[in-house]
Amino acid sequence: MERVIVIGSGPAGLTAAVYAARANLRPLVLAGGLYGGQLMLTTDVENYPGFPEGIMGPDLMIRFREQAERFGARIENVDVTSVEFAKRPLIVRTLDAQYEAETVIVATGASARWLDIPGEERLRGRGVSTCATCDGAFFRDKQIVVVGGGDSALEEALFLTRFGRRVTLIHRRDRLRASKIMAARASAHEKVDFIWNTVVEEAMGDTHLTGLRLRNVVDGSTSELGADALFIAIGHIPNTSIFAGQIDLDELGYIASPDGTRTNAEGVFVAGDVNDHRYRQAITAAGAGCRAAMDAEKYLEALEFKMDSLAAL
Ligand code: NAP
Repeated sequence: MERVIVIGSGPAGLTAAVYAARANLRPLVLAGGLYGGQLMLTTDVENYPGFPEGIMGPDLMIRFREQAERFGARIENVDVTSVEFAKRPLIVRTLDAQYEAETVIVATGASARWLDIPGEERLRGRGVSTCATCDGAFFRDKQIVVVGGGDSALEEALFLTRFGRRVTLIHRRDRLRASKIMAARASAHEKVDFIWNTVVEEAMGDTHLTGLRLRNVVDGSTSELGADALFIAIGHIPNTSIFAGQIDLDELGYIASPDGTRTNAEGVFVAGDVNDHRYRQAITAAGAGCRAAMDAEKYLEALEFKMDSLAAL
């Protein structure tokens, strides 16, 4: 029986592992085949405190991992295939194994939606990004394009006006999905302009992004737009498919945590982007991972106290 299983190995999962390991709980981290979370897809991380010169995303995650292992966390690069949280012990399955646990910390993160267009993957980190907070500062005085019509796209566009010469927002319809206040702010900003009813069909450039091929969805006409950066802000998909029917989700499909890091399933805690569509930062995920591990530890203490009291009867 495991005392703590952590599912996921981004900043939330590995911080939970550090804290649980230091509480002598010897957590088992089921890290996923592609461990490390979204930071493995970024280049320089300049906003994680403690690294004044910045650090590469993958290097940061290697450090998180080494720190968790140093205190006794066991990390397996395997994907969880199913869970059973309705009764105790909690069950977590991978392709080859089944684990029983007293507590589980879910930190499976969220994945940014991508456009799935030619050039997008090749130019990722070379002008194409899904995180303005992470990468915006690389594009000072450059032509920046943001795709999307929701609050995230407008928030990213407004943030990017600090750096870009011009920020062009491209949306596939002629009306924004975003809240009125965000729409008004973006429309009023002198550096922001809009291209409506248009989709990006290709990201162009050899070593870095140089331009975009666009298609107007109303008249079908195509055009090219020079661009140094393309920020894709068309939503995130929380990684919750393995928890369907096992934990309550909120109205946006993220794991609900009505009380801190607790979920509706007894002994199951949640941390990071799988629970947070608002902040989505490495530092906020790490903070949530710390809270989840502390809550799991308290829960285990209370459980032991209850067992001891029953045994004494
Ligand atoms: P969202 O509201 O789902 O918006 C996604 C946008 O991307 C939509 O405009 C959508 O177009 C567009 N889109 C989706 N797939 C696309 C594709 N394949 N090609 C081109 N465009 C595509 O997602 P979000 O903006 O990330 O927001 C998620 C939630 O967080 C929302 O509830 C939002 O209000 C909230 N949020 C709040 C704040 C804030 O309060 N400051 C900031 C960020 C997010 P359509 O409109 O045509 O569907």
